[in-house]
Amino acid sequence: MVLINDNYTKLAESYLFSTVAKKREEYRAAHPQAEIINMGIGDVTQPLCPAVIAAMQQAVTEMGEAATFHGYGPEQGYDFLKDAILQHDYLSRGVNLTADEIFISDGSKSDTGNIGDILGQANIVAIPDPVYPVYVDTNIMAGRTIKMLPTGEENGFCALPPDFHADIVYLCSPNNPTGSVLNREQLTAWVEYALRENALLLFDAAYKAFITDDSLPQTIYEIPGAEKCAIEFCSFSKTAGFTGTRCAFAVVPKGVMGHTADGESVSLNALWNRRHTTKFNGTPYIVQKGAAAIYSEEGQKQVQATINIYRENAKIIKDTLSELGFFCIGGENSPYVWLKAPNGMASWDFFDLLLTELNIVGTPGSGFGQMGEGYFRLTAFGSRENTVKAMERFRNYFGK
Ligand code: PLP
Repeated sequence: MVLINDNYTKLAESYLFSTVAKKREEYRAAHPQAEIINMGIGDVTQPLCPAVIAAMQQAVTEMGEAATFHGYGPEQGYDFLKDAILQHDYLSRGVNLTADEIFISDGSKSDTGNIGDILGQANIVAIPDPVYPVYVDTNIMAGRTIKMLPTGEENGFCALPPDFHADIVYLCSPNNPTGSVLNREQLTAWVEYALRENALLLFDAAYKAFITDDSLPQTIYEIPGAEKCAIEFCSFSKTAGFTGTRCAFAVVPKGVMGHTADGESVSLNALWNRRHTTKFNGTPYIVQKGAAAIYSEEGQKQVQATINIYRENAKIIKDTLSELGFFCIGGENSPYVWLKAPNGMASWDFFDLLLTELNIVGTPGSGFGQMGEGYFRLTAFGSRENTVKAMERFRNYFGK
């Protein structure tokens, strides 16, 4: 008899985005003429920038010749990419890290999910609500005790340190789904909490490229002490359109320690290295070459130009919703706009209304946690044309 991991039976039946897609496809099948605009899933729509394409084409050519062919690479990633990351994302911001503290991967979804492999089951995990569902689901899979950190309008949807102990805390800033961003003071409070409680911060910075406000930290390591208590996850998905190409990295500083049941101190960097080299065989050379190209001068300009398109979309959404009297946050240092459904409507009721009356697909806030009930997420990752069209539909429907 094969025994399963019983924790899987405790998961909610279907993953949020699968449910959204199913409802959308059912509606499309019943109304084939409807022009549905998708502002739901957080996928990007702009193509990879020319610098990335050129670098990847060059890498493909190299792969076709024995002298420049690349087989298995270092599981942790090539130095050319790790050095570019160190230089541009960290040293330039006064953060000193070393290349062996960076682990290139195939995505932050994998990294934020897999990190639990090296962490004990008895840890108490604190997770903001609402937030990216992967943290909750992967901890349910592992059978850990989860304590939610409720956020709402009163705290700007920013999770702050609780008055209870947690061993592991997930933070997502800029936040998916709310678009809220933790400022320096709030991050400092979290680092102080972690150092005081001997806790680990798992900081997901997948949307850091959207931060425009210079006073906001782009990495948790801008906060003194974070190098002793925080692991950071970054992704090229939203920064440079790698959602389909797959490349990300985790930063695990050597000073971040865990403990054995006997109280012996163990470096999480060493454990993650062991896990990564055992279960992962490296992100493709071609992909890493493409990722490194975003750090070239022209790559930086091109990537910024793409991000600016999404930023402008976010502004169009936010301005329209504000004008129409919706409560909304995000959209300024984030590609997500988080709005309150009108007249006390539940999130899924608002989803149905937008789908059937406006032919717009968004994401119900309740899918990101209980505190998201009554709220809704729209993304700025669509085309300009669709964003403008969607907001016209909002005006026509809600502006009367
Ligand atoms: N982290 C957050 C907060 C996200 O919203 C997403 C994707 O939507 C990811 C991670 C996944 O990133 P990746 O494409 O690198 O797996």
